Amino acid sequence: MAGCGCSKKNEKTKKECPLCGKPSGNIHYLAIRPVVKEDLKKLVQEDSYYICNNSDCDVVFFNEETEIIFLTRDIDMTSNFYEVSKSNTKCSKGCGGCKGE
Ligand SMILES: [Zn+2]
Repeated sequence: MAGCGCSKKNEKTKKECPLCGKPSGNIHYLAIRPVVKEDLKKLVQEDSYYICNNSDCDVVFFNEETEIIFLTRDIDMTSNFYEVSKSNTKCSKGCGGCKGE
């Protein structure tokens, strides 16, 4: 069934967390930018990131290619991080504006 090219091979949307090794789901950079600390926002580039949901793990977001890792201390906990991390990923397109239903 190869060669038609109509269905792009389903790229693995999970990566292993570099720290704990648990599968981490894809998250859009626009979802990250609002929750990282102010001086780290510039590190968030237009790229795909992954989010580690393991509460025992210090890694929150990471990007393999750029080797950027955001740890729990890099996250501004006063922002709506909870909403981001627990969100039901129905909007993973990164519009960033549909939080309020
Ligand atoms: Zn982890």
